[in-house]
Amino acid sequence: MYVLLVICVAVVSYLLWIKYIYYLQNLAKSRKQLLKCMLCGNKQFNSPQTSDLSRKVRALFLTAHPDDECMFFAPAILGLLELNASVHLLCLSQGNYYNQGVQRREELLDSCAVLGIPDSQVTIHDSKELPDNPNIEWSISVASSVILKHTRAHSINLVLTFDGTGVSGHSNHTAIYKAVSYLGSTGNVPDDCSLLSLSTISVLRKYLSFLELPISWLLPSDLCFIVESKGHYQAKRAMLCHRTQLLWFRYLYIWFSRYMFVNTFRVIDQGPKNLKVY
Ligand SMILES: [Zn+2]
Repeated sequence: MYVLLVICVAVVSYLLWIKYIYYLQNLAKSRKQLLKCMLCGNKQFNSPQTSDLSRKVRALFLTAHPDDECMFFAPAILGLLELNASVHLLCLSQGNYYNQGVQRREELLDSCAVLGIPDSQVTIHDSKELPDNPNIEWSISVASSVILKHTRAHSINLVLTFDGTGVSGHSNHTAIYKAVSYLGSTGNVPDDCSLLSLSTISVLRKYLSFLELPISWLLPSDLCFIVESKGHYQAKRAMLCHRTQLLWFRYLYIWFSRYMFVNTFRVIDQGPKNLKVY
């Protein structure tokens, strides 16, 4: 009986702690973290007024396949939109591994519409050089050149993408990180552009759903976005747009993946400008 009481108290305390983190890590806190990240890689971004910040942010999410945007980045996309940032998406393949590219293109547009990104701000790059295939290493030169061109064309000042492990370890995800960090280290991103990578966490933490939040909150990160039930519902609806991908385990993913609730990012270091140009 005593053990049961202790377990109940522990569970309730843990849930209250999560509630308290939701209270602490509110949108105002994310806005402050965002300003700090922007100042990190962007000497021109010197507005002390955090309230003005959001309108100046032109964020680009870089993904490899249709469905990456909602499976991995939904909390950040929803958070930035709520902060009134202009959000763009560049998906570097149309997801043609099983010859479903045409359907997946439509699914991506539907998913982005649910998340709040208009069609005009979604670009799906489709080339033989960057195929949807985990067994083919993408050329860093080709990927970085596509990314740089898009970043310049849309005056992007914040790039968000995978980290070196790519959440799932997919080689197309990690190739994007390599391309972005190459651009950053050689100083070939626009002067006013900051780079962020989505932190990959262990498999055990990954499937703890929102219960993982205290761990993410305690560990260091430069930017954190979390969503409550309304945001999770929106992310779930976006994921359901990817009809060709809805195998049974995707439903488990929707309910148990911590990435559907929490995104934490680290700043990608940038080197001196224009060391080498492709
Ligand atoms: Zn992917």
